[in-house]
Amino acid sequence: MKWPAMGYARVESLDELWRALDAAGPEAQILAGGQSLLATLAFRLSAPSTLIDITRIAALKGVSVAGDVLRIGALTRHADLARDALVARHAPMLAKAAPLIAHPAIRNRGTIGGSLALADPAAELPACAVALGATVVLAAPTGERRVAASDFFQGLFTAALEPGEIITAVEVPVATASSRQTIVEVTRRSGDYAMAGLAAALEMDGAGIVTSARLVFFGIGSGAEVARGASATLTGKALSAETIAAAQAALDGDLDPPTDLHGGPEMKRHLARVLTRRALTAFLVPSEQAA
Ligand SMILES: Cc1cc2nc3c(=O)[nH]c(=O)nc-3n(C[C@H](O)[C@H](O)[C@H](O)COP(=O)(O)OP(=O)(O)OC[C@H]3O[C@@H](n4cnc5c(N)ncnc54)[C@H](O)[C@@H]3O)c2cc1C
Repeated sequence: MKWPAMGYARVESLDELWRALDAAGPEAQILAGGQSLLATLAFRLSAPSTLIDITRIAALKGVSVAGDVLRIGALTRHADLARDALVARHAPMLAKAAPLIAHPAIRNRGTIGGSLALADPAAELPACAVALGATVVLAAPTGERRVAASDFFQGLFTAALEPGEIITAVEVPVATASSRQTIVEVTRRSGDYAMAGLAAALEMDGAGIVTSARLVFFGIGSGAEVARGASATLTGKALSAETIAAAQAALDGDLDPPTDLHGGPEMKRHLARVLTRRALTAFLVPSEQAA
């Protein structure tokens, strides 16, 4: 199907963007990587009056570290996340997540800002943002505000974005020697959206005791699903086969997966248990893994 007729404007600064949004009215839509938006146009699932292309706004680009915060510009592409040295060092979960997203052609255009704005329940990056305790930086003509990722995602394809507001960056606390981060998922074919996935971030002290845990699932609910009970069972304990089994058991109270095109609740719960074991086993020291 062909796209509906619409206007197009390319802006090069935030000031230009605010003027363009004001001139185009409420039916205008922002275009970043286009990897989700352009498909919705082709299927006539959306019909914006004007597409406003933000890909040349320098203020939305780049990755930097200031103090203990890694700032990732909204226009950072998935492929950039996979190869950026600062991301690899300070937020290894994101470096691991990026190659799991779709295929190279999509990763070369899709952006972190677009992925977070879309709030797809099967997407990797929203779950990572919640697991990492990230903050989403938003801007509007009236100024800037920051929202914890855990508050930003509000349900199926719903994020805490006000009309006319955009994501400018994501801020992630930098990983320390105590941080353990990983992401695991199950897909039908390489590059497919996950049937189920888990972004896991733990902090461990020098004695190997878990001081905080965030297990966040994707592809098994209406958004990034925090497994609070399972995360709590890990806190204050050393990782072992027993504590991993306890976390797996707690998932039944945490997750209430709906049926989707991949399968029903029991299958999703099974996958969640499998992913929990895989993710947490990866954090065990080698001697414990062999035990
Ligand atoms: C075949 C295929 C497979 C895919 N597989 C996966 C996958 O496995 N995992 C995954 O996570 N994703 C997957 N995607 C989605 C892909 O990652 C998208 O690129 C991403 O979700 C959206 O990013 P974008 O930059 O392309 O946004 P766009 O498509 O440009 O925009 C998406 C939406 O976000 C809004 N938006 C964009 N940027 C901003 C911003 N800075 N502030 C506010 N609103 C903004 C737009 O207005 C639009 O509503 C897939 C896409 C395709 C086509």
